[in-house]
Amino acid sequence: MEIVKRLYEYLLDLILPKKCIGCNRKDLFLCEDCFSLIELNPNIYCPCDNLVKNYHCYQCSNISLDRLYSAADYNNTIIKKLVKEAKHIKQLTSYEAIIILMHLNEVSFSFENDMLMMPTPLSKKEERQQGFNVAKEIIEIIHTEISIPYSFDNLIIKNSNLKIVNQEIIKGKKILLINEVYEVNGTINKCAELLKNNKAEEVYGITLARKINKVDRKGFFV
Ligand SMILES: [Zn+2]
Ligand SMILES: [Zn+2]
Repeated sequence: MEIVKRLYEYLLDLILPKKCIGCNRKDLFLCEDCFSLIELNPNIYCPCDNLVKNYHCYQCSNISLDRLYSAADYNNTIIKKLVKEAKHIKQLTSYEAIIILMHLNEVSFSFENDMLMMPTPLSKKEERQQGFNVAKEIIEIIHTEISIPYSFDNLIIKNSNLKIVNQEIIKGKKILLINEVYEVNGTINKCAELLKNNKAEEVYGITLARKINKVDRKGFFV
């Protein structure tokens, strides 16, 4: 049996050799040293590129997301690699979930009973091609840590349009919309708008990373 087990592990390593995405060190997907290079965002910022330390600034009160929590800057080398590699290596999504939880803890986010986690959707074709939706994986891991309920496949993309399948599920709820990356003009804001139009009480965007469109900014940890 030992031989069978070793053979299995050997084959598994051939298919998926474990190495750190940051430094190629063997046997780990992300080593402690590389993990420590991630700078957690210690604040919340408004969802437009003005990055005001508030839920909204005077220029983005029209954005449907009531709040945005982004754990780190997309331009951080490790974060960028995580986002790229997690599309192929499912195990990396647990690191993403942990980073998100660390950020939420840092900004004293409190989970409440009327919250419901939902992933920003991929089209059926995208999800099939990729094999999984990273946002769903993140949600499942957060759920095992904090038993906030979640709903999959209620917010979907059908014929290139966003659609709510069952309004009752989201009615009066605070929706935690989970995605890997936030961008002002990304899908997440369109999802938030649709959720609010379908009677969600509030919609918070929660993402691993934030992409900033202003080229002159060197990051938002100020
Ligand atoms: Zn490393
Ligand atoms: Zn703003």
